[in-house]
Amino acid sequence: MKDIGELIVKLKRVKRRDYKGTVYNFHCTPDENYFLNGILVHNCYKSNTSVGHNMPVETFKCIFNKLPHTVGQIAFGIGDLDGHPDLWEILWYCRENDYNPNVAPNITINGARLTDRDAGLLAELCGALAVSNYGPDICYPAVEKITGQGMKQVNIHQILSEESFDTCMQLMKDSKTDPRLEKLGAIVFLLLKPKGSRNKMTPLRDLEKWKQLSQYAFDNGVSIGFDSCSSPWFLDSIASHPNFETIAMSVEPCESACFSAYINVDGFFVPCSFCEGTLKDWGTGLDVANCNDFITDIWYHERTKLFRQALIEKKKGGDFHCPVFNI
Ligand code: SF4
Repeated sequence: MKDIGELIVKLKRVKRRDYKGTVYNFHCTPDENYFLNGILVHNCYKSNTSVGHNMPVETFKCIFNKLPHTVGQIAFGIGDLDGHPDLWEILWYCRENDYNPNVAPNITINGARLTDRDAGLLAELCGALAVSNYGPDICYPAVEKITGQGMKQVNIHQILSEESFDTCMQLMKDSKTDPRLEKLGAIVFLLLKPKGSRNKMTPLRDLEKWKQLSQYAFDNGVSIGFDSCSSPWFLDSIASHPNFETIAMSVEPCESACFSAYINVDGFFVPCSFCEGTLKDWGTGLDVANCNDFITDIWYHERTKLFRQALIEKKKGGDFHCPVFNI
């Protein structure tokens, strides 16, 4: 289905299913992201470049049909919307297939050159969407355009680092004053991971700044979320909050390979996107596209079990920090 006109005609027949599923430990519907009280429990980011390759749509369908039926969301990352020639077919397949019709596709975009037509398609097909913040002139009009299509869960993804701290604060202020962000769902802060040769930033490790960030959000009613990698810092930053216990219930520390899985464009599994090429003994990861059975060959593979067990033991000991990176 490469014809966008054909897709638009079919979209007129899309109806949101009345599905109640469980994502992590929360209930949600395919039209929603996994927020509770405005706090996000998991999100990944990945630094995309214009150089690289895509997962073919045939491989995507093959993998989709091997995943367990308990899968409720698939999160896609793309820069420019024309970065993958079969993007619409892939998103459409999540919604209309005979294997697991309860999957909500979510997507992160860069917001550049977003047309009304594409905003409409995204709003129709995706349960939630995030625009990475590449500056107010690109990000804010994109948010306005998609929320204008009636989509409710439209968020902004903002890298949190020492260097971007002021941008994070400004973004929160803008969310309360800039009319283009009037219908914004939440600002989701993604803690910088010290990885990649292009990265010149450092993770935010100043607790006072964390407190400043959280306090500003609470004081000004800014809806915020964090990736699960941020959870120990966020929890420390609100330790003296009168509703700490309630807020903490909606914070899920790292759950890679426990509630979520990362599969790269070549169809290989690693616990999270940042683990790719970093985890000792994992090589290129586990081959999902060519596995016989996802549960036995991937989910209960010896390496996955060891990673999961180590993570669970660490968390039982009260250490919620990333098991892989010093963040
Ligand atoms: S392993 Fe580390 S980087 Fe990956 S999701 Fe967990 S906390 Fe984040």
